[in-house]
Amino acid sequence: MKVNCLSCGHKTDLDDAYDDYDGQIKCFTCGAILEIKTEQGSLKSVKYVKIVQPPSAQDVLLRTR
Ligand SMILES: [Zn+2]
Repeated sequence: MKVNCLSCGHKTDLDDAYDDYDGQIKCFTCGAILEIKTEQGSLKSVKYVKIVQPPSAQDVLLRTR
């Protein structure tokens, strides 16, 4: 089953374990968190949970130290 990422549009491949699933998945391409609900292998709903934002200036500063 494939889920279209609402952030980057990439199709994320999900295996059979997600055929009946209600929870969060992570887009492997952009890292966005999506909340999906599936039933018997078909997608019922996709919701955006978290938009991945570029690291803030403070984070970059901490990382370079
Ligand atoms: Zn994505």
